[in-house]
Amino acid sequence: EGRFIANNPLSKQQHAIAVGSLPGGNTRTLLHTAPFPLCMKQGKGAYVWDEDGHKYVDFVGELSAGLYGHSHPVIRSAVLSTLDTVGLNLGSTTVQEQRFAALLCQRFHLERVRMANTGTEANLHALAGARHFTGRRKVVVFAGGYHGAVLSFGGEDGRPAPNAVDQEDFVVVPRYNDIDAARKKIAETGDELAAVLVEGMQGAGGCIPGSKEFLHAVQDAAHAAGGLFILDEVMTSRLAPHGLGAELGLKPDMVTLGKYLGGGFAFGAFGGREDVMAVYDPRETGGLAHSGTFNNNTMTMHAGYAGLREVFTPEVAAAFRERGDLFHERLVQVARGSRLSFTGKGSLIGLHFTEERLEEFYSGEEVKGQERADLRDLFWFEMLEEGFWITRRGMIVLILDTPDEELDRFVDVVAQFLERHRETM
Ligand code: PLP
Repeated sequence: EGRFIANNPLSKQQHAIAVGSLPGGNTRTLLHTAPFPLCMKQGKGAYVWDEDGHKYVDFVGELSAGLYGHSHPVIRSAVLSTLDTVGLNLGSTTVQEQRFAALLCQRFHLERVRMANTGTEANLHALAGARHFTGRRKVVVFAGGYHGAVLSFGGEDGRPAPNAVDQEDFVVVPRYNDIDAARKKIAETGDELAAVLVEGMQGAGGCIPGSKEFLHAVQDAAHAAGGLFILDEVMTSRLAPHGLGAELGLKPDMVTLGKYLGGGFAFGAFGGREDVMAVYDPRETGGLAHSGTFNNNTMTMHAGYAGLREVFTPEVAAAFRERGDLFHERLVQVARGSRLSFTGKGSLIGLHFTEERLEEFYSGEEVKGQERADLRDLFWFEMLEEGFWITRRGMIVLILDTPDEELDRFVDVVAQFLERHRETM
């Protein structure tokens, strides 16, 4: 930490100024890191540079919204041509919005879709839609689940975070991947159940993959209770050509999307069954309004469409998943038998330092409640010195064009770290 302070005088100075106008000096809680956050200045391709001029491999990957990297040529040209030939917002529907919607439907097996500005919004609208469609209120979610700024269930006790909306309407299953607990809570909620909202892999909750059996059991239980099954694919849609749900054979009534799908611009979308989504059809009476000034903003519609159609094709998605899995497997091998474990799937990797040394690592549930934040912080500071920019809470997100040699170097650097701190690892 001492070296960090000495090496980053401009970030430190910037933070001192920022606290004068922003509580704690920033506007995204996650990005705060003690003693002060690094202030980044520029990104290019798979790299970022901070105010003090250090260069890093970008393993934050904008928490998965940065799939295309910084200034990808296809995104860049979509943005510039939109600026030059379309304009920013036209106050009407556009052909581009309709094209992008059709592409999202086709790609993620949705009958109908609607756009929003964030994943949080997408989930809020999906829940409102499910409530309206079923005429019920309650929503079952899982401890460790994160569905957005006001839909966070990460507390140890699995209670909604204090800023969660509609706290009394959420029923929190205390353990993700626990089939019996899920069935019990869903059955107890019974004819009050509007929906179950679940991630196919908990992202912010530590990159903990849901088992196929668990997710199918949740889907079946939701249907048995007469509620909807909503799969939050905001983070996981990148993991397979048609999203993680399709890979696992799930048939969600509704799906929520976001992150990289906006091409790097603010984005969220929710969609699914035609009859459910019809609650948002303005031609129907008694339906729900779905507003949002920027829902179909031209930048997102063009950049998102170009990215998904020309860059992140189903073939590229499959190859990217495999590349991530191989990298992940190498990290698991290097760390085997130490206090460091890697969870996740494909390009989304969680890293955990635990009190116990875990030989094998399967569900990821083993790490919960025994995290060693002190070791994680040490790792973070040392990886910065090696030129790797990682989410402080322990997440590595790959972007499409991270060079192979940087992945190789990271594996080496992790091995050296474990060796250097052999006693404590
Ligand atoms: N759902 C999941 C699974 C997420 O990981 C996130 C963001 O991290 C969200 C929803 C919220 O998305 P946004 O930050 O765009 O509101």
